[in-house]
Amino acid sequence: MYIIYVVYIYDLFYLSFALTCVLLYNHCMELSEIKGLGSKRIETLKSHGINTAEDLVLFFPKSYYDLDSNDTFKEDGKYKLIKATVISDIKVVRIRKNFTYSMCDCLDLNNHIFKAIWYNQTYLKNAIKVDDTLYLFGKNSNTKRNYFVVSTYKNKNKIDTENGLIPIYKTFSGVGQSVLLASIKTALEKIIIQSIFPKDIENEIFHSQYQNSIYNIHYPENEKILSLAKERIDIEKIMPVIKFNDDIKNKSSQKKSQNYTNFDEIYGEICQNLPYKLTNEQISVIEEIKNDMLSNSSMNRLIQGDVGTGKTVLALIACAVCVKNNYQAMVVAPTEILAQQHYKTMKPILEKLGLKIHFLSGSTKANERSYIYADLKFGVPCLIVGTQACLSDEIESDKFALLVIDEQHRFGVNQRTKLINKAKNMDLLMLSATPIPRSLSLVYYGGVEISKINNPPLPKRIQTNIVPQNKEDDMWKFISNKIENGSKVFVVCANIDEVDDDTYFGLSANEFYKFLTTKFPKEWIKLAHGKLDSKDEAKIIKDFSDGTCKILVSTTIIEVGVDIKDADIIVLVSPEKFGLATLHQLRGRVGRHGKEAFCFCMSRNLSEQSYERLKFFASHSSGFDIAEYDFKSRGAGSIYGTKQHGRIEDIFSYISLETYEKAKKIYEIISKKYDTSFLLDAPEYEFLSNISFN
Ligand code: ADP
Ligand code: MG
Repeated sequence: MYIIYVVYIYDLFYLSFALTCVLLYNHCMELSEIKGLGSKRIETLKSHGINTAEDLVLFFPKSYYDLDSNDTFKEDGKYKLIKATVISDIKVVRIRKNFTYSMCDCLDLNNHIFKAIWYNQTYLKNAIKVDDTLYLFGKNSNTKRNYFVVSTYKNKNKIDTENGLIPIYKTFSGVGQSVLLASIKTALEKIIIQSIFPKDIENEIFHSQYQNSIYNIHYPENEKILSLAKERIDIEKIMPVIKFNDDIKNKSSQKKSQNYTNFDEIYGEICQNLPYKLTNEQISVIEEIKNDMLSNSSMNRLIQGDVGTGKTVLALIACAVCVKNNYQAMVVAPTEILAQQHYKTMKPILEKLGLKIHFLSGSTKANERSYIYADLKFGVPCLIVGTQACLSDEIESDKFALLVIDEQHRFGVNQRTKLINKAKNMDLLMLSATPIPRSLSLVYYGGVEISKINNPPLPKRIQTNIVPQNKEDDMWKFISNKIENGSKVFVVCANIDEVDDDTYFGLSANEFYKFLTTKFPKEWIKLAHGKLDSKDEAKIIKDFSDGTCKILVSTTIIEVGVDIKDADIIVLVSPEKFGLATLHQLRGRVGRHGKEAFCFCMSRNLSEQSYERLKFFASHSSGFDIAEYDFKSRGAGSIYGTKQHGRIEDIFSYISLETYEKAKKIYEIISKKYDTSFLLDAPEYEFLSNISFN
């Protein structure tokens, strides 16, 4: 949960990575040694990456209940914690197959009687009795019928703590809160998690054992203790990153052998061949690239800019300077389509300048390929544009001077390692459309200089609206009108099927599709989702593309790869279920080429907090501003408090800039006095060495 940079970009690595940390520092205790964990539960835990007692102890709460600040019933649609007494037996009502609810009458501290409702939890019938005192966490349904829909609850009799904060864990089927609470407690008594720091440093810097922080993250007495524990854990995690960045800084003062002349002439010649003028932002990035390329040490630069901000032409200028100076350059993209796109853009301009360009991918024919290899080997000045095929060991050349990598985080680990080896002694230019907040890039791209492009050359004209439930009809009328006039509409839902989550009935892709067929002619609407086989999916997307289908209902599969140029309306259903970055990517699917477009956020379950987030999203068009906002609003201290999204990626808390700075100071202190090479053994360090470039 606290390994921010991995989570942000390589979320897939997250668990295995966290686990390696443990494996390295401890000999492990089996889960079967913990009372209450039978083979079935152990199997479940293992399938979620929790393999040992140590993993269990490092499985931190997703949030906490503050039992002191409980509330009473109110029909305000807000999530809250209510303390109440049960005054009737639980009644189980069956609505349809796989859908029941359990219900009982409760009395809150204002002596108000309301109905508490649990969906699909029939076992509650035996767990809750009249006169029990419950802490109920949830919100009132918006039916105004005195219902409180419970997300999770605690029975006061069964709470085994005197403390004001109670941890809430992400649960798994068959491994609920109480099992997790009990088994983590047992595990904590039996094992010790070692600090990354040697004992003498730990004592000097922190005055307390790492184990205490681990204990306090599970059982914090109050908010203050919780935030100290979190900070300490973050510092342990971030320290190897700081070491890594420091090492890169020291290395990159190396001199390079290539030297370029006539930068301005070549740059000017390219500009003359462009059908447009560079924007001021593009011009200032070129200035930065120029300084890097003309300096004595290797360029190590990342250009960050949303899709469509015009990064390609900047890379092209750098490549042209390189090739015109009789070196070789390479542009590597993660997919064939992207690589082809670059090749098509670059070829006519380079050829006008009399420069040679090759395309190289897995589909390049053998004879063509050997011709390219020969050019490289004999040092013919040229640009190679391609996919990972460019990383083949068969390529030999000592003329390579510049490597451009597009969307590097989309390459697999092995390819990234190859890229690093390629980049040694070369000038390196990376392009990325993945918005990372400033403070995170500081950590993630520690040794790399960053250029930003904030605005596209042709401003996007997408109007984003938050649509409350009582305005939904107006929205559909508007959309209907637009469709009559040639519009195409994406409708994006968070889930394919209904989930047993109270508040989202009718909002899954399947259900929403059915709903839309009552509003629009059936043949207008198609449903696409990840469970379709790829042929059917391609057909549906083609129908949408050529206009047979007007409304495409889908899950987020349209986030990647699908490029439908004239789609101009997107309806985001339950947008509060998505991260802002995802919403931004989705919104980017419409309004291409400066065309006017609309984005509707159709939200029925907005907490105040999600409303604020959406409002920010609606009023900002830069992916970077949005990433920054998301980071700030969910940054420091945000593990405390309610997280209604319930989705794992929404629960991560990111290391704050303050913690990063604090860790940096600690590093400076200890690196003066001690040998910091113990940090080299940390898996974080190794991990970074495998993905960064120097
Ligand atoms: P990305 O940053 O996503 O790689 P591209 O480099 O593909 O963006 O540029 C997107 C489009 O914008 C291209 O069609 C490109 O020709 C065009 N473009 C780039 N710079 C400018 C500019 N200064 N003025 C107008 N159009 C531009
Ligand atoms: Mg691009």
